[in-house]
Amino acid sequence: MLAEARQCARCSDLAASRKTVVFGSGNANAELMFVGEAPGASEDEQGLPFVGRAGKLLEQLLAEIGMERADVFICNTLKCRPPGNRDPLPLEIENCQDYLRRQVDLIEPAVICTLGNFSTKLLRGDPTGITRLHGKPEIIMVGSRAVRLYPIYHPAAALYTPRMLETLREDFARLPEMLADGPPEQPSDAPEIGPDEIAEMRASAEDDHAPGAAEEARAPDQMGLF
Ligand code: URA
Repeated sequence: MLAEARQCARCSDLAASRKTVVFGSGNANAELMFVGEAPGASEDEQGLPFVGRAGKLLEQLLAEIGMERADVFICNTLKCRPPGNRDPLPLEIENCQDYLRRQVDLIEPAVICTLGNFSTKLLRGDPTGITRLHGKPEIIMVGSRAVRLYPIYHPAAALYTPRMLETLREDFARLPEMLADGPPEQPSDAPEIGPDEIAEMRASAEDDHAPGAAEEARAPDQMGLF
């Protein structure tokens, strides 16, 4: 997937203007994954996410909860820098989302912390903004995986607004307890239906409608339940 992303030209303008594809970095077995917006100038230069000022703040906030970059995986909604740091366009987000979903599949994080509006809206599939959602964890499906989604403010927004930084810090402080809860129950973790439950379902189906001639002629496992 990395090799594919490095040659990606789904967004021809971004492919022409970028210096590097900023795929993501960190621990591929991480329980905690951060998803930002898009690479900026420093990230585009170095090929790594969150290495500029917002990245320094992210590292500081991680240190305050006893973690470091090597403990987490960090990536972005867009893997290429939009020229002049403009907002990602809807088509660019659409073109790029497959990489993020595959990253989630591979890394299998327990918690995905979305930084700011773009990643939050993409993964929730809903236009509700970060001001309403920050600090509120919820369990969502990303592909076939259930994850704890935890939207928080983007550190770049907090760089210039002390009140937002305070909120970001408070939201960050809840991450350890969320990680301690581990991954949410996966759909395949649901108890399998065993022989007792099947017998029970048959019995109740038989009670519900007395069998007519046609039903009596059928074997019990062909009663329309299975
Ligand atoms: N802002 C982001 O959203 N991502 C980066 O990688 C850097 C700044």
